[in-house]
Amino acid sequence: MYDIIIVGAGPAGMTAALYAKRAGKSVLLIEKEMIGGQITYSPCVENYPFVKKISGMELADNLFEQINELGAEIEFDKVNSIEINGNVKKVICDSVEFEAKAVIISGGAKHKKLGLDREDDLIGSGVSYCAVCDGAFFKDKNAAVVGGGNTALQDALYLSDICKKVYLIHRRDAFRGDIDLVNKIRERENIEIVTPAKIVAFLGDKQLSGVELDSGRRILLDGLFVAVGQAPENEQFRDVMELDEGGYAASGEDCRTKTEGVFVAGDCRQKNVRQLATAVADGASAATHACEYLDSLE
Ligand SMILES: Cc1cc2nc3c(=O)[nH]c(=O)nc-3n(C[C@H](O)[C@H](O)[C@H](O)COP(=O)(O)OP(=O)(O)OC[C@H]3O[C@@H](n4cnc5c(N)ncnc54)[C@H](O)[C@@H]3O)c2cc1C
Repeated sequence: MYDIIIVGAGPAGMTAALYAKRAGKSVLLIEKEMIGGQITYSPCVENYPFVKKISGMELADNLFEQINELGAEIEFDKVNSIEINGNVKKVICDSVEFEAKAVIISGGAKHKKLGLDREDDLIGSGVSYCAVCDGAFFKDKNAAVVGGGNTALQDALYLSDICKKVYLIHRRDAFRGDIDLVNKIRERENIEIVTPAKIVAFLGDKQLSGVELDSGRRILLDGLFVAVGQAPENEQFRDVMELDEGGYAASGEDCRTKTEGVFVAGDCRQKNVRQLATAVADGASAATHACEYLDSLE
């Protein structure tokens, strides 16, 4: 049995592993996709304190190396549920089960979809949710980004270096993202801002060929990047933690949940700011409180 099992090896989960290992606890991290979480999609992080400029992938690699050297174990699998049997927590994955005295849930958040007909069919055939992953497929082609927050603005800037033309489509006149990014966008000659506008349909049969807007305008496109927000994947943990209407886990800064010995950290937690700095802060807090909990069992 492990002292602590951590669900998700993003910045929050890996930071929790770092703190727990340094406190002498045995730790298993379970990750269903890729070490590093969302930040691996960012080519350039400039707002993480102490580091002027670094790629998200390098940042994640550094942290992984740090916890690896401390002896944190990692398993690639998807956690589907957690069962509580007194002080023992059974963590049930797709292919295997583990036991721990404490669990930290740090599953982060996922991209939201537009909810239009054929959206799923067109994923990988012109529709993408990750400009950094798929932008290179649209070199010298026409692409659009839909959304009004920082991710949409960053995606539009990133794609404008690769694509011939980039349309930035947003349903409101004003963007929610940073004014600095908006100003940079306005300076780019190959970005056309299309606001207020709502995409009502995808054009093209098996391959996206464009979008139709609520104004009736049709824009011919090779690629569409959807950046309309995120939602946590907490549903399978509803029994052990309280979720708000957005699906985020209710918890204070101590990262405790309604279940003794179960903690929550990072973007999947109810909070105002979802960033690297807040995710790693949560990881540190969750692990510290989980260690306190373990010590109280002795
Ligand atoms: C394109 C992009 C650019 C960004 N740029 C910046 C930036 O410049 N600066 C900044 O501060 N922040 C940035 N962010 C935000 C930052 O990446 C997130 O706030 C941070 O990654 C949150 O960390 P986390 O560990 O809480 O969650 P995540 O990074 O989402 O990691 C969660 C991990 O848990 C795994 N997981 C989920 N459910 C399960 C399960 N059931 N079983 C096993 N594993 C599971 C996921 O696969 C994932 O690896 C950016 C985000 C994106 C998408």
